[in-house]
Amino acid sequence: HLGNSAASRDIAYHLHPYTNAKAHESVGPLVISGGKGVTVTDDTGKSYIEGVAGLWCTSLGFDEPRLVDAAIAQMRKLPFYHAFAHKSHEPAIDLAEKLVALAPVPMSKAFFACSGSEANDTAIKLVWYYNNALGRPEKKKIIARTKAYHGVTVAAASLTGLPNCHRDFDLPIARVLHTDCPHYYRFGQDGETEEQFATRLADNLEALILREGPETVAAFFAEPVMGAGGVIPPPATYFEKVQAVLAKYDVLLVADEVICGYGRTGNMWGSQTYGMRPDILTSAKALTSAYLPLSAVLVSDAIYKACVAESEKIGVFGHGFTYGGHPVSCAVALETLKIYEERDIVARVRDLSPRMQGTLRRYLDHPLVGEVRGVGLIAGVELVADKATKQPFDPKLNVAGKLVAFAHQHGAILRPIGDTVGFSPPLVINEGELDELLARFGKALDDTADWLVR
Ligand code: PLP
Repeated sequence: HLGNSAASRDIAYHLHPYTNAKAHESVGPLVISGGKGVTVTDDTGKSYIEGVAGLWCTSLGFDEPRLVDAAIAQMRKLPFYHAFAHKSHEPAIDLAEKLVALAPVPMSKAFFACSGSEANDTAIKLVWYYNNALGRPEKKKIIARTKAYHGVTVAAASLTGLPNCHRDFDLPIARVLHTDCPHYYRFGQDGETEEQFATRLADNLEALILREGPETVAAFFAEPVMGAGGVIPPPATYFEKVQAVLAKYDVLLVADEVICGYGRTGNMWGSQTYGMRPDILTSAKALTSAYLPLSAVLVSDAIYKACVAESEKIGVFGHGFTYGGHPVSCAVALETLKIYEERDIVARVRDLSPRMQGTLRRYLDHPLVGEVRGVGLIAGVELVADKATKQPFDPKLNVAGKLVAFAHQHGAILRPIGDTVGFSPPLVINEGELDELLARFGKALDDTADWLVR
């Protein structure tokens, strides 16, 4: 019945990421064909407020002409060059300088790749390289957290703490370990305060390091707010306590700012929101407002000095991507950062945050809502079968998926993550659009409640 439509050709030819292939054959795609401001339009002409900014990334919305102009100008001037073997180009140089100046803690250099996964793979290699340079090649293990999301390349997928990224791929690789997910609502014990929960998790991290042998543990990777694992901000005092443990055993901190970077949490960096002092920082997504692929890895001076020392021994840092720091992507990133500054995007997030977080918290009165969590303009609403016992729904019901389908009908795109509904609208959303997004979510929540009693 779909004929030769885009949807039928999608089913015929297109293998989708993060999609149940069997279900896709019957459900088919939502084909998005245009974007304006914070809305996107499908191929039938129906519009949706993009409540997740695509994949937590289009911070400037879907039609910022200055980014288009920056891309075209760079395309005309120099559509490609690279940074291998002492080559360079101005957009990468300008962007590296800008990012080092913008960093939340003193950083020395920026390395460019194309995606968050590649940035995290690069960070892993830099951690290993660093310890080789220091003459301790046995110090190579990396600790991430259950429910972390750090990407899907083999090493980054190993850091990711989600079963569907591991199960069929025999991951994680050796040397990657996981510690507790810092989700107080789900994993806090009866009578335990948030601070006590944070202490317990830091103690568990220390116990893991001691079990493995501190001389073998190199780095700890963490998103400031865990995103794709369910929008999980850390409990109070968590990073302070975790960093004390890392410092004690000379373990590096890598902050994965792929979602949190560039204003999302109400500071330029999530690291600033939570007092993190990373040795390496990875970012992507909003760096270009997602108009082109680009990621950046910022490294401390100590890491950079290790690169110098090690490359003297072995020749080169044997790592790099053809399209890493692509000049057109860098030009778009520079323009993106200029717009963030001109429009004071961080202040804008702080202004809008109470409106989003406050309105969502009012839904705590709703019978289906167990927890509302978030900071800045990122939030998660967790649905529960029983609020008193926090009993989750039967996963087969796919309740959050159902809610998100109702939200589509009402003209809003949201993200289901287990039983949690994720929000991460473009940072340029205005008050009226935000109210409308939240109202559409409210309708979808009521529809879901009705559907459950039917
Ligand atoms: N790190 C975090 C925190 C992410 O949210 C993501 C993607 O959602 C990644 C890394 C991976 O980025 P990419 O999909 O660009 O490889």
